[in-house]
Amino acid sequence: MSGDFVLALHGGAFQSDRDYTRHTQTLETILKSGWQNLANGASALDAVTQAVIAMEQSGLFIAGKGAGPNSEGEYELDASIMDGHTKKAGAVAAVRGVKSPILAARAVMEKTPHVLLAGTGADRFITECGLERIEDPQSYFTPSHTESQVPEDKNHGTVGAVALDKNGHLAAATSTGGLVGKRAGRVGDSPIIGAATWADRDLAVSTTGYGEYFIRAAAAHDIRARCAYLGESLEAATAKVLDGIKSAGGWGGVIALNKNGEIALDYRCSGMHRGVVRSDGKIYAKSFPDA
Ligand code: ASP
Repeated sequence: MSGDFVLALHGGAFQSDRDYTRHTQTLETILKSGWQNLANGASALDAVTQAVIAMEQSGLFIAGKGAGPNSEGEYELDASIMDGHTKKAGAVAAVRGVKSPILAARAVMEKTPHVLLAGTGADRFITECGLERIEDPQSYFTPSHTESQVPEDKNHGTVGAVALDKNGHLAAATSTGGLVGKRAGRVGDSPIIGAATWADRDLAVSTTGYGEYFIRAAAAHDIRARCAYLGESLEAATAKVLDGIKSAGGWGGVIALNKNGEIALDYRCSGMHRGVVRSDGKIYAKSFPDA
């Protein structure tokens, strides 16, 4: 296995039967450049950061440029990142006017002793770091390209990435505009380490779906705990956690990857934009169930 690498992405779990050809094509393009990065020796941390930036900027998913407004017409974004090798993590919640929330989360991890920044302090930190800002949110964001027109409870499109690099290190990242039409100040699972994002030396997880259910299930960490303490396979642990979320009334999906390169891409809803590339260069990208 040594030297093998893997990148897996999700562009959100959804409940709809729209034509998602552009979404899968976009995932394929991002996987190709992710493969190049990892083949050139990029760290898992850099690979997930780059992939999430590309999905944020595509305007197709409910994250970054594609985010939808909250009930007051404002754009409040959440993101988190975790480096499995060092177990360092960073996150931002309900931030406004930053072009790349995942870069802001990474800056929290790398430039502060904290894990999660929110509110006006987070906004000031983002400015201090010199991260690119959005001057005119109303013209920058493109929610009409995403699923923001569908009812709130069916409206998902978070993006996420997990990677294993040539050195066997893992990382995970998640970024979202949250539920479109959400109450101002609402923070979902995406910036919560252990709910939507987890990475350590054994596995990396990113989730999407109805965030409140993923927070209450401590979903990402529970997958890790089931593997570590019950000895379940990654696939079985992921399925159990998603089944629990579904029976509680929620829905969504997970991408998970372990140090052996095993992957679980699973969801409890009509589909999830998802894709994988491995060192052999073969690309898999789909939105609906495998035939
Ligand atoms: N999990 C996100 C949230 O609840 C939404 C999503 O995944 O689409 O904010």
